[in-house]
Amino acid sequence: MNCELKAEYDFSGVLMWHIVPAGAFMPLCGTPLAPAAETRPIPFSADLDNLCHLCAILYAAEPKPQQAASP
Ligand SMILES: [Zn+2]
Repeated sequence: MNCELKAEYDFSGVLMWHIVPAGAFMPLCGTPLAPAAETRPIPFSADLDNLCHLCAILYAAEPKPQQAASP
């Protein structure tokens, strides 16, 4: 699955980053997010310490597309 990060906000700014399928706005964990929320590409930078743990677990469990071997 092609995924990206999407922000969940609270009154002070970005509360948490969720992992969403690219182009979608419902993250893997099911938390409703604003469609206009900021997105970031995966892989994300190491300073991202407020990644949604449930999304991270679910994303890690996703079967990753294998790089096709050269014919
Ligand atoms: Zn999440």
